[in-house]
Amino acid sequence: MNESIVIIGGGASGLMAAIIAARNHGQVTILERNNRIGKKILATGNGRCNFTNAFASSIHYNHPDFVDSVLKQHSAIDTISFFESLGIAHKIEEEGKTYPLSDQASSMVDVLLYEVTRLKIDVRTEAKVVQIKKEKVGFTVILHDGQKIYASKVIVSTGGKAMPSSGSDGSGYALLQSLGHHSTTIFPALTKLTLDCPYLKHLDGVKIPGTVQLLSTNQVVQEESGDILFTSYGISGPPILELSRRANELLLLGTKVEIKVILVTHLTKEEVALRFEQSLDKPIDFSLVGLINKRLISPLLKDSGIANQTAKVSTLSKAQLFTLLSKLFDWRFVVTGSKGFEDAQVTAGGIMMSEVNKDTLESLLVKGLYITGEVLDIDGLCGGYNLQWAWSSGYVAGLHASKG
Ligand SMILES: Cc1cc2nc3c(=O)[nH]c(=O)nc-3n(C[C@H](O)[C@H](O)[C@H](O)COP(=O)(O)OP(=O)(O)OC[C@H]3O[C@@H](n4cnc5c(N)ncnc54)[C@H](O)[C@@H]3O)c2cc1C
Repeated sequence: MNESIVIIGGGASGLMAAIIAARNHGQVTILERNNRIGKKILATGNGRCNFTNAFASSIHYNHPDFVDSVLKQHSAIDTISFFESLGIAHKIEEEGKTYPLSDQASSMVDVLLYEVTRLKIDVRTEAKVVQIKKEKVGFTVILHDGQKIYASKVIVSTGGKAMPSSGSDGSGYALLQSLGHHSTTIFPALTKLTLDCPYLKHLDGVKIPGTVQLLSTNQVVQEESGDILFTSYGISGPPILELSRRANELLLLGTKVEIKVILVTHLTKEEVALRFEQSLDKPIDFSLVGLINKRLISPLLKDSGIANQTAKVSTLSKAQLFTLLSKLFDWRFVVTGSKGFEDAQVTAGGIMMSEVNKDTLESLLVKGLYITGEVLDIDGLCGGYNLQWAWSSGYVAGLHASKG
């Protein structure tokens, strides 16, 4: 007998699960609370959809053992082939980041929608699920308007809490908790950080290539390089997104968290000290022109306790020059938090992996219940890894749920 499979959530993992289950002769229904499916996919990769990473492996995720089992069944290469077969030509950019050749996230949604229609998958939009009831055989899924839908299998693909405006408002946790599942503490990852810094107004909009370190009680816990962007609230840019998971985790533990910005990366301290010695007649602000971004000069001098920014280098004390020199290689900012789930690309934490079968993604607590994507306690690095997890987990759940 064909399985009647209800998939809750028409995002990346739910759509993959639906297509694979329907290809395996499942009778599939997608229940999506939005008025359309695939809304978040449209926002991915700045509208270009970095849909996988050619080098994706389990080491790019928390819970690598679990992820390994899932990626072995559907790898990044499988994802590229899957989308090629639907019409998406791909290109691989730096560090393995993979995009559709069209550079349009909407083309990803278009081909998924085409396949969903071709397979005659029943898509019900504006269908918010408020409860899943386990019956003696199968499940009753209850919608916000009281409508009840029977299913022999249920796949929960509701996403986490990142970008709630896309529909993933965290309701999946409650649905699964009411069936006995537990969630770890969830927090935003791949997000911008807020800083305690009096100079943010001056720094707002300054973009510099550089290296940043995350420090917890003075110890370096992570280092990243790339374009750093100062904003009116704090700091952003790819290296900051990468640090944000660990930063938020440490803040949750009540630890003091700092960001160290290394402004000068191509010269040694001795070489910069020599520049000062050779510029004794120059104003101190001018002596920094050509070394760092001009808009950083005033806040950096203020933070170094140099009030007269046009004072000649020769008039500054040894202590002032020492502080300035130190800050060029180690400018510290206290992290107060992050921009939250609204601005985050992914949710860290989620339904506990010890409660899910790593070979099938079936719940170990409730037979016939499967869980995919970000609602689980899995998150990956920036660069296509999170969508890869969504596709792979959707594939595995869709395949095993349709097996009978
Ligand atoms: C701005 C942004 C950019 C990103 N860019 C990238 C990128 O380039 N590359 C990358 O790898 N990752 C990226 N990500 C992360 C990636 O998009 C997610 O990890 C992935 O979409 C998660 O897939 P999912 O299926 O678990 O959940 P989602 O895609 O969030 O889908 C969940 C779906 O479930 C629906 N839903 C929720 N609750 C209910 C309910 N109770 N009833 C019915 N429906 C419900 C939601 O409306 C939603 O459509 C980005 C994320 C954001 C926010």
